[in-house]
Amino acid sequence: MSAPIFAPDFKETPYWWEAADPAAASPPETPPVPDRTDVAIIGGGYAGLSCALELARRNIACVVFDAEPIGFGASSRNAGMVSGGINVGKGVDLTATYGAERAKAMIDEAGQAYGHVEQILEREGIDAKYQRFGRFVGAHSRQQFGVLERRAAWLAETSGQSVEVIPEPRQREEVGTDFYRGGIVVNRAGGLHPALFVRGLAEAAERAGAKLIGHTRVEAISGGPGRFLLGTPRGNIEAREVMIATNGYTGAVTPWIRRRLIPVASFIVATEELPEKTVAELIPKKRVIADTKRILYYFRLSPDGRRLLFGGRARFTQVGARTSAPILHRFMTSVFPQLAETKLTHAWTGNVAFAFDFMPHLGTHEGMHYAVACNGSGVIMQTWLGHQVALKIAGGTNRASAYDGLGFPTRPLYSGRPWFLPAIGAWYRWRDRIDRWLD
Ligand SMILES: Cc1cc2nc3c(=O)[nH]c(=O)nc-3n(C[C@H](O)[C@H](O)[C@H](O)COP(=O)(O)OP(=O)(O)OC[C@H]3O[C@@H](n4cnc5c(N)ncnc54)[C@H](O)[C@@H]3O)c2cc1C
Repeated sequence: MSAPIFAPDFKETPYWWEAADPAAASPPETPPVPDRTDVAIIGGGYAGLSCALELARRNIACVVFDAEPIGFGASSRNAGMVSGGINVGKGVDLTATYGAERAKAMIDEAGQAYGHVEQILEREGIDAKYQRFGRFVGAHSRQQFGVLERRAAWLAETSGQSVEVIPEPRQREEVGTDFYRGGIVVNRAGGLHPALFVRGLAEAAERAGAKLIGHTRVEAISGGPGRFLLGTPRGNIEAREVMIATNGYTGAVTPWIRRRLIPVASFIVATEELPEKTVAELIPKKRVIADTKRILYYFRLSPDGRRLLFGGRARFTQVGARTSAPILHRFMTSVFPQLAETKLTHAWTGNVAFAFDFMPHLGTHEGMHYAVACNGSGVIMQTWLGHQVALKIAGGTNRASAYDGLGFPTRPLYSGRPWFLPAIGAWYRWRDRIDRWLD
């Protein structure tokens, strides 16, 4: 480890795992696989666990399987930035695509989803260091500032969300850089500790009666509604219903869903502890921050306010944290040149799942329920969609989710291996650069 950007105690694991390592709470000695259950849930992240929590609260027996420790996927690796709708169908004209009524229902539901996570944290007593400091979205060009202004007006008009437009001369009130051309502040937004949240959800689901089985990959599914049979290396299980919550880690066992998802690696680094004065200059109001680039940067302070966590798509192939860290350090110092000498203590990666239409997807295929395609923003949405699947199974709602049953597109010959990502990534980066040159 020779590069000067690495602190002596640099680790290639998420900063979040210092407080909540999934492997510590979900050891390899897992409970035996039961012969049968009402609902078998594949995937132990926010979607699978929130589904389990609601089912168990309604006395419906359920078992959550994860191939790794429970919570090992994106749910313990993300940046923990939360908001209620600003990212839904980012880049999609929801009104033109789905009609004004459904577009409004989607945004309203995203707002409800935000409140739902706040309620879970409170009701279940989960200390996930949730802080509602708001989100700043920086425009990477003047043209994108205009797009943000229009999005802010639309959100305010459609759902009454409080969104403030910050012109470039006022930008340093929000973020200590001249990298952006102004932006917007979404007030109903903030940050949480993602790994403590997923651990808290797991504990709540278990308390309610759900069975969680980590280190157990579901390798085969046969049968149909009323009587599915799932095969794992540790035994088979019969289930009345199946719920798929594998998102960016979806594999060969669900080929129909796999063909509809594009797994993309996202990368984050954490800095060493920074002087108080530097922190106050970088993000004075402790907002969580993202930008409008197609290949975006996102960053925030750690919950204790001492470090910067900086994320982005460092590469479009799966590379190790030691390869991605110098790239992210470069991105970070392009926004904050004052951090040129700052060292990194952690660098890590995780998978998000994009859909070809950039929308979240909840639905049922061949009798199996699914909640997938977070498109990079799933802390709130995947928790909500998992909960919605539980309500659907329990028959506990007379109003279908606005996200239920959207067409779920794929592309001819696509099998789930996104060979085209490096080319598309390069094209998007080039367009981001052009936007700034033309500015
Ligand atoms: C680096 C990064 C930063 C992000 N930042 C943000 C952010 O700031 N805000 C935000 O809202 N979202 C963010 N996201 C997205 C967010 O983390 C995800 O949307 C969310 O965690 C997805 O939750 P999930 O339950 O759907 O899937 P996951 O948490 O990914 O869980 C899926 C699980 O399925 C398991 N699995 C797969 N196949 C099988 C099988 N056959 N059998 C058993 N188990 C299986 C996997 O092991 C995995 O644990 C980020 C993601 C990453 C990677």
